[in-house]
Amino acid sequence: MKLFPPVLLHYYITRLCNCRCTFCDIPGEGKDDEIRFADPQQVIHNLAQAKKLHIPFVDFTGGEPLLHPQLAELLRYAKKLGLRTSVTTNCLLYPQQAYTLKGLVDFLHFSLDALDESLHNHIRGNNVYSAVMHSIDLARELGEAPDLLYTVTNENIAELEPLAEFARQMRLILIVNPVFIKPALANRNLPLLEQFNRHPNVYLNRAFLRLRSRGGNSVSHPRCRAVSSTLVISPDNHILLPCYHFCRDKLPVPAGFAEIFTSKTWREYRSMQGRFNFCAGCTINCYFDPSFLYASDCYLLESLAAKARYALTKYIHHKFHYPDKSGARLRAAEIAGIINRRKNRLIHAD
Ligand code: SF4
Ligand code: SF4
Repeated sequence: MKLFPPVLLHYYITRLCNCRCTFCDIPGEGKDDEIRFADPQQVIHNLAQAKKLHIPFVDFTGGEPLLHPQLAELLRYAKKLGLRTSVTTNCLLYPQQAYTLKGLVDFLHFSLDALDESLHNHIRGNNVYSAVMHSIDLARELGEAPDLLYTVTNENIAELEPLAEFARQMRLILIVNPVFIKPALANRNLPLLEQFNRHPNVYLNRAFLRLRSRGGNSVSHPRCRAVSSTLVISPDNHILLPCYHFCRDKLPVPAGFAEIFTSKTWREYRSMQGRFNFCAGCTINCYFDPSFLYASDCYLLESLAAKARYALTKYIHHKFHYPDKSGARLRAAEIAGIINRRKNRLIHAD
């Protein structure tokens, strides 16, 4: 069977985080025996190996990746190799690092889960809203094109409309990321997501919705290709199998990446991807997004269509429509006010 290399390297450069989001179980405690940050020399070596294998994308993740003291150097090296880079940040540290990171991140994502300040801060477990608003303004001043990453839960689903409007007015893209840990997004909320699928500033991969409406991954006919499509490396330099969230095996990263794909363990995990008991009903977006590219079916077509729309909006439409200079916080407050007044009118009309 022909072996296509993974399309994505998910590099966990730290497990530490300065937020405590209600839907996340990642943050490490920084215990003495825990490797706090990936060793920069190891990362550099692994990036070169990834390039040799023609892995095109590297996502520096965590934890909060901006806590890694050498993030900028690692990004710079990845860019020098010609890799496409992505970083998602909660924005607490972005204002301090914006100038250093400028031009180094191809896909820069700012997490924003509500236009309502107190709700966002509650979800994030820290007072982070002001930093997000400031980061948007700063990034735009620097010529960066950040996306907003909205993790949608049953608690903040009503924020979809205000966030989409905010994205439209700020000429940003709102990436809708349905929560994948329990409690999962209720099926009754899926039609609302469908409604916003054609919103020009909303990126929502319909393949995710299809997968969810079918009850997630099926272990008898798995759609997951986590092992084939994604290489996951931990801060302590191990390959995690079959995926980060349900890691069952850790292989020390070998000197040459080609060795991974000939190893018996990796091959066994590849043949079992999506077939373990814990894979039943799985909808972990970060693995399905690349997985959808690894079989020819409707999931592949819907994914490609979503990505084409994203590229069109971001690189063509937004490029020729420069935003005005209104600050993000002011815009957010105006939109929240308009939506609240509309809701109040509807309540009184009832
Ligand atoms: S910011 Fe990210 S890593 Fe940190 S707690 Fe929230 S979701 Fe988890
Ligand atoms: S189905 Fe989910 S849990 Fe199973 S290997 Fe894939 S991503 Fe991991």
